[in-house]
Amino acid sequence: MSNHLLDLIASRVPDPEKIFIQSLDGESITYRQMLSASARYANALVSLGVEPGDRVAMQMEKSPAFLFIYLACLRAGAVFLPLNTAYTPHEVGYFLSDAKPKLIVCDIERADSLRDAAGEAEVRIVTHGQGQAGELYDLAAISPPDFANAARGDDDLAAILYTSGTTGRSKGAMLSHDNLASNALTLVDYWRFTPDDVLIHALPVYHTHGLFVATNNILLCGGSMIFLPKFSAPQILEAMSERPDRLRGTVLMGVPTFYTRLLDEPGLTREACSHMRLFISGSAPLLAETHRAFSNRAGHAILERYGMTETNMNTSNPYDGERIAGTVGFPLPGVSLRVADPQTGAALPSGEIGVIEVKGPNVFKGYWLMPEKTASEFRPDGFFITGDLGTIDDRGYVRIVGRGKDLIITGGLNVYPKEIETEIDSLPGVVESAVIGLPDHDFGEAVAAVVVRAKAAPIDEAAIHDALQSRLAKFKWPKKIFFVDDLPRNTMGKVQKNVLRTTYGG
Ligand code: AMP
Repeated sequence: MSNHLLDLIASRVPDPEKIFIQSLDGESITYRQMLSASARYANALVSLGVEPGDRVAMQMEKSPAFLFIYLACLRAGAVFLPLNTAYTPHEVGYFLSDAKPKLIVCDIERADSLRDAAGEAEVRIVTHGQGQAGELYDLAAISPPDFANAARGDDDLAAILYTSGTTGRSKGAMLSHDNLASNALTLVDYWRFTPDDVLIHALPVYHTHGLFVATNNILLCGGSMIFLPKFSAPQILEAMSERPDRLRGTVLMGVPTFYTRLLDEPGLTREACSHMRLFISGSAPLLAETHRAFSNRAGHAILERYGMTETNMNTSNPYDGERIAGTVGFPLPGVSLRVADPQTGAALPSGEIGVIEVKGPNVFKGYWLMPEKTASEFRPDGFFITGDLGTIDDRGYVRIVGRGKDLIITGGLNVYPKEIETEIDSLPGVVESAVIGLPDHDFGEAVAAVVVRAKAAPIDEAAIHDALQSRLAKFKWPKKIFFVDDLPRNTMGKVQKNVLRTTYGG
């Protein structure tokens, strides 16, 4: 039996000597080197006891080795479980006790801080250095560069990606080999990727956008990537420029913040973008204003698409047709999408707002160890209820008008209010709190907390910040905290977050 995703990737390698990844200073890794490095890591994982079906967690900074270990997991038939590098040991502890991975791979510098969390969950820590050294690196270096890939079928799990839950409890989205393979193949086709493409990769690799949308696309078109450690507008401009000793970018995938930051750069001109074929945006709403400003300055209409961890990509603006600002385009080939009545799931007429529901080979296999939660998010006819609210216009363009789940997206990262509220509410002197997203020019939305204090309680903004620092990743810390006597509530007793957004959003 074959290994579905890995065989597909291997079958699409154009020329083994072709560049797979290049750094901005021209250091290259070829497809041949990528295949042998991932085989070495697969051998190393197996020698550490990893068997098909085992989860392998990883909390590691972005590097080519991150991708080799992802591919090594696929080869070994393991389930890759990448974790946001911003997560605190307290947060990582939850993922380890829930997913029970065979081991967690982490940066050398991180190992000590994870010791307690890993010990409690009885998960072994395996270190990996940036560049060289570390337990896993050393083991891979002495392992053979060939590996007989484990047999994996379409429905076998390739990855679990945790998405925060509205209840504060994170859910592990189970993604199969075919979920990833089918979606990447669709996107290669829809966005016309070819082996000549050079993707400027500035996204984090622990998230579906940087890992699957970006990397799997390049792997399945046999193209190359300029791999930046993190987003930097000047470095993106540099990657678009011509230099004899390295590749020149043709495609950028970004979150909306990339585009607002690029617009702040005087170097963003039509000339600077003349070699670019495509700019793609997703993970959060792109303001129509940003779309227009970018069109004027760069001469490119950003192509906006819509997806989520659980479903991979669902819709995209067209490659050839009109890319309409403020819309996320059409359902991708093979994806059925409807805007439905939230109560009944019945499709609504065009123009009406309802909940977006999707079905297709892209849709995940369910939440890890949460069969009831999974069942409650699918309709009897197999459609997944995304929780996003939207409309479809007469021409078939999908528009997202809100998020039923109250999600805050700040700088392209998701923040679920409930998680932060739970932390704040547990502090002495706090009666209750409501966390909302407020419009922010730079981050799209900024996290803000509205807090009710007990009478005469001494707790202030600084004390809340101090308390959250060791509990939550930095991107979740409220940028603003307001104190009030009472939270506004409707007749059903629900906090009216829309009122808070209006009061504090101005
Ligand atoms: P994630 O699982 O982190 O990819 O987040 C998925 C959520 O991001 C979706 O459910 C949407 O709420 C939001 N999202 C993704 N792409 C877009 C987009 N183009 N416009 C508006 N919201 C988006």
